[in-house]
Amino acid sequence: MKLNLLVPALAALTLVSAHAANYPEVTIDGVAGFQDTPLQPDGKWHVHDPARPQPPVVTPGTFSEQATPPSDATVLFDGKDLSQWVDKGSGGPVAWTVADGVATSAKGDIQTTNQFGDLQLHLEFREPTPPRGDGQSRGNSGVFLMGLYEIQVLDCYNNKTYADGATGGIYGQHPALANACRPPGEWQTYDIIFNVPHFADDGSLVSPGYVTVILNGVLLQNHQAIRGETNWRVPGEYKQHRSTGPLALQYHNNSVSFRNIWVRPIPLVNDP
Ligand code: MG
Repeated sequence: MKLNLLVPALAALTLVSAHAANYPEVTIDGVAGFQDTPLQPDGKWHVHDPARPQPPVVTPGTFSEQATPPSDATVLFDGKDLSQWVDKGSGGPVAWTVADGVATSAKGDIQTTNQFGDLQLHLEFREPTPPRGDGQSRGNSGVFLMGLYEIQVLDCYNNKTYADGATGGIYGQHPALANACRPPGEWQTYDIIFNVPHFADDGSLVSPGYVTVILNGVLLQNHQAIRGETNWRVPGEYKQHRSTGPLALQYHNNSVSFRNIWVRPIPLVNDP
């Protein structure tokens, strides 16, 4: 390796070690997480607390797999191309691959060119098999509503992680009501209903965003208020933004596949 490549590589390595040393993980009952993080507003659990109860496992039945879009839906991915998406970081072409009707995550997050407010979303995802990695490193992706509020996508089939970071969790805030994950390699459905947050002219929050999440026909979030933007190791915090935003899908160092993505913009129901 040339010196001009080696130096940044060593710097990155140092950063990773310092990062791990600064943020020590703790493992409780096989769950790795953090207890040096701020407490959630309920005062009981830290953000990403490994002691927070795991969502109960529910074996899903059948639901909306390969649901054809309603007539008024905006189809965001029908298996052909990702022409309605751009790379979230650069705004340029996506690095994700499309083959055999399936889009697979790679290199960076993607987001829609369209902006959405309140919406009904359907998408299907498939975790890689054989599974690789543990906890947050196994099949991590995510659905970012307005590009800001993450509904976690993770392979939580026989894979424990901190409850507020498991599949269907509002990341770092609200664990899912159940763990309804199918095994890796099987297609899974997300049906999500989202109401945008509202802000006053001075930027203060008038009403939070709300989300209802159904995974494989099992309710995981029941019109749950979102506490703000979802981030690692911090509680949610709102920052004023416009009333519409893009949908984004996360690349988190794992290749997760997607198909049949469509959205129905819906009229405002919680306009203050
Ligand atoms: Mg994620």
